[in-house]
Amino acid sequence: MTDSTLWSDIIGQKDAIDKIISAIHSGEPGHAWLFTGPRGVGKWTTAKTMAAALNCEEGGCGRCLSCGKVLHEIHPDVFLIEPEGNFILVDQIRQLLQSIPLKNFEGRTKVIMIGEADRMTAEAANILLKTLEEPPQDVAFILVSSNPEAILPTIMSRCRMVQFKPLPANEMISFLANKYSLSYDEAILATKLSGGILGIAISFATSPIKKERRKMVLKVIQDIDRFDLAKLTFIAEDFVSEIKKSLNELKEKHKKEFAELKVQLNLGDIPVQAKRRIEQRQKRELSREEHQGFEEILNTLVSWYRDVILLKEAGRQDLLTNQDCILAIREHIDLLTSENVYECLQIIEETKQQLRFNVNMQLAFETMLFKIHDVLSVQNSYHSY
Ligand SMILES: [Zn+2]
Repeated sequence: MTDSTLWSDIIGQKDAIDKIISAIHSGEPGHAWLFTGPRGVGKWTTAKTMAAALNCEEGGCGRCLSCGKVLHEIHPDVFLIEPEGNFILVDQIRQLLQSIPLKNFEGRTKVIMIGEADRMTAEAANILLKTLEEPPQDVAFILVSSNPEAILPTIMSRCRMVQFKPLPANEMISFLANKYSLSYDEAILATKLSGGILGIAISFATSPIKKERRKMVLKVIQDIDRFDLAKLTFIAEDFVSEIKKSLNELKEKHKKEFAELKVQLNLGDIPVQAKRRIEQRQKRELSREEHQGFEEILNTLVSWYRDVILLKEAGRQDLLTNQDCILAIREHIDLLTSENVYECLQIIEETKQQLRFNVNMQLAFETMLFKIHDVLSVQNSYHSY
């Protein structure tokens, strides 16, 4: 089973996977699971893999019709819910539970996956709890959360817990280098920029648009004290249009998905129900991508100022993220005081906090750039006296 493609695509989580596989092998996989651990280390991917394994003749081969449907999130016996907006609402859980008493359509086990399970409203959580207390047959619930403290203890006590660990950087680097044929330097850069989130590292490593975006952001930040406010407004606009570029890239990918699906799943046309589910997922992916684009630009800025401070205070060139900008970083260690660099990092951090709310990106970028500009141009005017 471990040789099959789906399990082998999950890296750095051997203990977690062994635990799940041996439970499946035992023939009594249990009716409720809770996968916890940091964001972006493979919990959701593992939940999907488990759903596939529970319904595949070969334990999650990744090639059969059933696995294909689970992966595209259109298997009639595998259900996924995630927060709509900020919360998982009681109606979402109700709708889901209503589908359980029906017999299985195609699979052997109905699987219900709940992403960000800590965001269930109290009402939603209580309804789920009632079901977990008297679980229907042949149903497996998989709850996923990077913030399990916020889940009802009574729900947690009903679940088998699987703890996912942060991904070791060296495993991520060699995975990226091997799987996407990157040079070692490219794999290191993608890993460092990802903040330990494999999906972000992969999307950076495989997207020319994101690589260009990083270069553009790094170039801008080096000259920011010399720009006037009008120029800074343009730059904020550029940041937003950079994010739109990767959204368009994703939209193209989504279009292709429908065409590929017809071939892969050998369908003349995609059934209406499946089509609707795919469209809903694609919509979620787009909103996540927009969110990530915003975060990635901020992370690039953070990486720049961190590099400056690292070289300035510790002299550690080997630890820098932006190894391809060492000359520019070196120039800036004399131009910036440590205090100002920390101030800039603080401003970026505050901008990041706004991600939790429905932020107007243009405005958020603009405000941030103005503030950074203020900090740095005040410093430069001191220097000139
Ligand atoms: Zn399969």
